Order: sequence, then structure tokens, then C-alpha cells
Amino acid sequence: MSSRSYYEVLEVETSATEAEIKRAYRTLAMKFHPDKNPEGAEMFKEISHAYETLSDPQRRAAYDQYGESGGRYEGPDMDFGFEGMFGSGHPHRDMPRKPRAELHPLSVTLEDLFRGKKMRLKLERSIPCSHCKGLGGKRSVMKSCTPCSGLGYINSLRQMGPGMFLPQKAVCQSCKGLGKVIPEKHRCKKCKGSRVKTEADTVEIKIDPGMSDRQKVILKGKGDQAPGEEAQDLVFVLDQKAHATFVRIGDDLVAEGEIDLAEALCGFSRVMLNDLKGNPLLVTHQTGVIRPGEVLCIHNEGMPRAKRPGDRGDLLLKLHIKFPESGWTPSPALRSMLPATKRPADKDAEGAEMVTGRPISANEFAMRTSQSSQSRHAHADRDEDMFEDYGDDYADYSHGVPECQQQ
Ligand SMILES: [Zn+2]
Ligand SMILES: [Zn+2]
Repeated sequence: MSSRSYYEVLEVETSATEAEIKRAYRTLAMKFHPDKNPEGAEMFKEISHAYETLSDPQRRAAYDQYGESGGRYEGPDMDFGFEGMFGSGHPHRDMPRKPRAELHPLSVTLEDLFRGKKMRLKLERSIPCSHCKGLGGKRSVMKSCTPCSGLGYINSLRQMGPGMFLPQKAVCQSCKGLGKVIPEKHRCKKCKGSRVKTEADTVEIKIDPGMSDRQKVILKGKGDQAPGEEAQDLVFVLDQKAHATFVRIGDDLVAEGEIDLAEALCGFSRVMLNDLKGNPLLVTHQTGVIRPGEVLCIHNEGMPRAKRPGDRGDLLLKLHIKFPESGWTPSPALRSMLPATKRPADKDAEGAEMVTGRPISANEFAMRTSQSSQSRHAHADRDEDMFEDYGDDYADYSHGVPECQQQ
């Protein structure tokens, strides 16, 4: 892997929109796809890797803040905490500041998102030391830092490729970017010169009914505060746990149920499941046949719509029809009660070869047919139209998984 940033890999600006990133990825993926360009495999991997992160807003924000490792980004990301306090002004103001937010995942249940919830969380945050007002010691005893000559940063060259170097400023470790140091004996007794202290805080997080998985709840100014700066925002990213009964699709809920053949033909009224409030739902369907694969769409039993409180999505109940076991023999009376067949029985029977079959399960059929579809895929030419069709799935090539094996 090269040391290029994901933005450089995709040849986009760091301010690029999601659409721009997607477009850039498609263009490059097309150019370097191993099927089209045997030399492109490494490049394609790198492009896909970059796209995986930048196409996901949360991962992109984390990358912008911490870089690829998830640790502190070693790039030109500096803390200008004392800017303004010392007045002199740093000569590199145009460098990007880190985003003013801390992202924390917050585990929630589907019930929480359905009903809404208030949660109180105890946490610790870092704030300027009140004893020294965030200075770390007396101002009068501060000395210019020797290793960086008081600049707060050290110039170096970063290798970007063969023979390519980019001048780079690294934060001076001796003074942590301040340009000033305080002799040990004059350091603040409370914070030992670190300028900050840890404070216990309780925050209240409000989840509104209908909020979605991955949605952010932002608490303005409740994050860490560096001396001389405003406090960062605390951002919680909702992370919904999988639910035993329901899968949420937008504002709709999808669940599954089983009915007998008699119920599919003659109707039913039966408690099949509990809703998200825990109340039993008497699912009723009295008229009309339910056919294999049909889904019962139950109006207004889905999730609350966040934008229109009181209004709800639908419950989509996938009904599996349980047919009688193979040993069961229908009585002749049943045949006469079912709708008469319109298919002529033996019009063409004369001279035809008689064949019989063994019923195989849908699973067995799927296994047999998926093998032959794999070999068909392998021989297909991957032209540009096909690439369009598969679109984003191509990202998975970076893990060496062909798309036809995805289930
Ligand atoms: Zn220094
Ligand atoms: Zn202090």
C-alpha cells in the first residue's frame, strides 16, 4: 500500500461530495479492474479500499479525524490551543483543523427507536485546568522551546513516491506545539503542566421515536475542551442491535410468519407475533387466497415516521405456507371441492412417453442450480454494461470475493 491518502488515491478533493467520490471510484475502478487491466490488481485493491472508507460517512469522518490506523493522524493536524493567547500567530493557519466532534457508537434496540428514549450517560471529559487557567504554569516563567526554536513545529520531508517529497510540518514533541515550555519547578501543581484536567460529567441523550440506525445525536459543546478553544461537540452514532422478530427497512418493518395450507385457502385470524410495544397482534385475513411468496402488507403497523409523528410505516408480513407432509393423502371429496382444473388431462397423451418425478426441496434445487450459474458467470465477458449492473459490489474484489458467491 502506498502512503497516499484515500483522497489522493481517488483523485478527489478532501471536500468532495459523496456523489463525486462515487463517480471518481467508478471511473478508476473501470480503468484498473483486473479483468480489463491485468496490471491493475494492486491499484484496484487500493481504490476499493479507499472507497470503502470514504463512501461511508461515519468511517470517512473517523478517517478525517484519526487517519487510517484509527489512531492519531500523523499528518498536518495540529493543535492551535494557544493561538491567540500568545498573540504571535502561527505561520501555518491554512492547515486543516481537526473536525470539532468526537464520535461515539451508542447501542440501541429497535424498541428504543420505536418508542423513543432518554438516556443519561456518565462520562469523563478533558477541560482546561482551572488552577492555572489552562496555561500549565505562570506565564512569566515560560521560555521559548529549543528543539523547534519556539515555532511549535518541526519541518521535515514526507516521501510520497519514488523521488517525490512533500514538505511537512510535524508537531514539536518537546512543547506539544506550543513553542513555549515551562521549567519543571514552575509548573502548575494541579495539572503538572498538562494544562487540562479530567471532569466527570453526565449527559442526557434523547432518542426520538422513528430515529434510524446510524443516525447521529449531537450534543453541542459537550465534548473535550482544549485550553483556548471552544469545547468539541459530542456525537453519538446510533447502532441498532438486530431484532429477533423484525427487520427494519426505512419506515417499514418486515417479519415472517407461517400459515397452514387450509389457512392460505380459507383465511385465518390468529395471534402471530407481538408488536414493538410488546402487545399481541391478531393477524386476520378472511377473504381471498394467499399464494406462495405473497406478503401481507399491514398498514400503519411499522415504525413511527420521524418527520410526521403519529404516522407510521407498514408491517410487511412474509407468509410461509406450510403444506401437508408428504404422507398425507387427500380425500376424494377434497378434490371435488377445489376449483376444477381447466387443463385437459389426456388430449396429447396418445403416444407420449410417461414420466414421473421425485419432489425435491427448494434448497436442493437452489444448490443444484447455483453451481451451474457460477460456471456461467465465470465465462461471461465482463463488459462495461455488466460493470454498471454490478456497480458497488465491485468493492468486494478487494477481499478476493467474486460477486456471484455472495448470498
Ligand atoms: Zn517545541
Ligand atoms: Zn493547571
